[in-house]
Amino acid sequence: MGLKISEEEFRRIMESGKRVDGRAWDELRPIKIRIGVTERAEGSALFEMGKTRVLCVVRGPMECIPSHIADPERAILDVAYRMATFSTEERKSPTPSRREIELSKIIREALEPALFLEEYPRMMIKVYCLVLQADAGTRTASINAASLALAHAGIPMRDLVTSVAVGYCYGKIVVDLCSVEDELCADVPIAMMPSYRKITLLQADHRLPIDRLPEILEIGTKAIDKIYQLQKRALREMYATTTREITGGE
Ligand code: ADP
Repeated sequence: MGLKISEEEFRRIMESGKRVDGRAWDELRPIKIRIGVTERAEGSALFEMGKTRVLCVVRGPMECIPSHIADPERAILDVAYRMATFSTEERKSPTPSRREIELSKIIREALEPALFLEEYPRMMIKVYCLVLQADAGTRTASINAASLALAHAGIPMRDLVTSVAVGYCYGKIVVDLCSVEDELCADVPIAMMPSYRKITLLQADHRLPIDRLPEILEIGTKAIDKIYQLQKRALREMYATTTREITGGE
């Protein structure tokens, strides 16, 4: 998947105390957030972490379609994660892959604890995450974009959900993996409702020493706090702009 350097070279760089893209161990890639990018949907957000770019659109709460899947106790959160055909170096097939179907479920499970789904029986909330450009961390960027789009749609939430991937390679713990690191490190994506310190997603895709997990979680939580501040700032600025537009800048 587009590895640009050999494993030996990667190991040499890491053991010399650096990361392949020159970042500090705990440094996030540059983050850009835009809220309200489509006018047809109730909520939308664009979230960029380095070269990874995800557009998330939220529809609803709306009538559940097809009606036979409606739950009389709560709303259905319907999440679709897709990678655009142009999001990877080689054209990605438009047919949803097993990975996309699995990630849709994982993103849904990461978001559900933040929502009051029981307040909307028989309804549906649709969350569509489209990866426009992929360079690792697309599930974490999707979760970050989705919680912003849900807030933009005015859907009541206990907290935003914020996510980052933490990696473990050659004894080092690194934050927000780029794609080379994603291929060569153990990858631990974490999502959290930061105000409650409640973890809503925790995965590990390779073996890693279990005694390093508390440190991985601590470093991940610090990174999540930084992203959370940016998410809240983006929402505040969006509403401040709207207010200025309504009041003519006063
Ligand atoms: P995440 O994007 O959440 O890190 P993965 O670990 O499965 O999820 O994927 C890591 C990265 O591998 C992706 O962000 C993307 O850059 C690349 N990738 C994943 N699937 C494909 C694909 N079908 N074609 C090309 N690159 C892909």
